Amino acid sequence: MNSPAFSFTEQATLASAGSSGPALGRAGQISTPHGVIQTPAFIPVGTKATVKSVLPESMKDLGAQAILANAYHLYLQPGPEIVDEAGGVGSFMNWAGPTFTDSGGFQVLSLGVGFKKVIAMDTQTFRSDEVIAEGKDRLAHVDDDGVTFKSHLDGSMHRFTPEVSMQVQHQLGADIIFAFDECTTLHNTRSYQERSLERTRLWAKRCLVEHGRLTEARSHRPYQALFGVLQGAQYEDLRRKAAKDLAGLDEDGITFDGFGLGGALDKAELGTIVGWMCEELPRNKPRHLLGIGEPDDLFVGVENGADTFDCVAPSRQARTSAVFTDSGRVNLTNTRYARDFSPIDANCDCYTCANYTAAYVSHLFRAKEMSAATLATIHNERYIVRLVERMRASIIDGSFYDFKTEFLGRFYSA
Ligand SMILES: [Zn+2]
Repeated sequence: MNSPAFSFTEQATLASAGSSGPALGRAGQISTPHGVIQTPAFIPVGTKATVKSVLPESMKDLGAQAILANAYHLYLQPGPEIVDEAGGVGSFMNWAGPTFTDSGGFQVLSLGVGFKKVIAMDTQTFRSDEVIAEGKDRLAHVDDDGVTFKSHLDGSMHRFTPEVSMQVQHQLGADIIFAFDECTTLHNTRSYQERSLERTRLWAKRCLVEHGRLTEARSHRPYQALFGVLQGAQYEDLRRKAAKDLAGLDEDGITFDGFGLGGALDKAELGTIVGWMCEELPRNKPRHLLGIGEPDDLFVGVENGADTFDCVAPSRQARTSAVFTDSGRVNLTNTRYARDFSPIDANCDCYTCANYTAAYVSHLFRAKEMSAATLATIHNERYIVRLVERMRASIIDGSFYDFKTEFLGRFYSA
C-alpha cells in the first residue's frame, strides 16, 4: 500500500454457487481521506462536478457514498487550475465525501470513434476494422506517446499524455484517480488489441512515475489513490495478462492502489471477463468496474469480484422519464401514470417516492418542468445505489444468489 490514508479491507466473501470455482465476489470497505465506502457500491456520476439536476446534499441523502467526476470535461471547463484553487473537486462542488475522477482517456478516445454510450456491447458486431487507428480523419488521434484531440466545446486542439492526465487529476484532487489508458472497442482486430495493451502497460508505468512525483510535490494535499486500468477486450489471455502486468508494476515503490476494469465489454460475457481479471488481481486492493450500471450487469459484476461501479445511465434515463421499479423500467409519460396516485415504486425509500406520486412526476414530464428531472433522478440514483447496498447485505448474510434470482426474475419478467 502506498499510503496509510488509503486502504481496502475485505469483510465477507460470496460463497461460490455450488461450483468448484473460487468465490470472487466480496463485501468490503475502502478507506479514503474523505471517508469510507462500504462495498460493493454504486458510485453516481457527476460528469462536470454535478449530478445533473440534483444537488450534492440530495445525493448524500439518497445514500451515495462517493461521486465520480470526469477529468476530460473538467479539464476543458472550468479548467483544472480553477478546481485546484477551490481545494479539489469535492470542496468545489460542496461534496464532503470521497470522490473519483476517470482519466479522460475514454472520453478523448470516444471522440475518435463515437462509441460514447456503448461500454457493454451486444455481440452482433464484427471485428474487421480498426476503428481506433493512427492517422484517420477523426476528432482524436492515438500514438505511442498520447492522444491528440479536438475539444467538443470549441474545436481547439489538445493533447493528453499519461503525464498530463496525472497532472490534471492531481489538480482535480479526487481521492481515487485512474491511469491513462487506451480504450479499444470490440471492433478492433486481435493484433490491434495486443499492440494497444502493450501501449496501455507502458502508459501505466509512466502514470505511476508521474503520480509518485506529484504525490511528493503536493504532499500538503490529501493522498490520492491511483488505480491502473485493465484492457484486453474479449480475449481471456489479454485480460489475464493485463491484470498480472498492472498488479506487478512497481516504480520505485509506487504501485497501483486499486484497479479499474475497463474497456468495451461484451454484455453476454461480462461476468466471465470480470472473473478472469479478478482471479489474477490481489485481493487486498479494490476493483472498480467502469461504466456499468444496468441491474443485471451489476449482479454479475458483483458476483465476479468487482467492488465499485459507476454509470451515467440512472440519471440519463431519468431525464428521459424512464424510471426503475421492481417490475422493470417504465416510462412515466405513459398514459397509465396520469392517474396513478401511488409512488413510482411502492418499495422504494427515496425522497421522491416518500413525497410525490407517479401521477405528479408524470405531469411534470409532460409539462416539460425542470423538477421532473430532479425528482426522477433522485429516484433512479437511489434505486441503483440501494440495489447494490442490498447486494452487499446479501453477501454478508449469505443470501446473494437467492436475492439475485428473485430480483432479476421480477425485474426482467415483462
Ligand atoms: Zn423512489
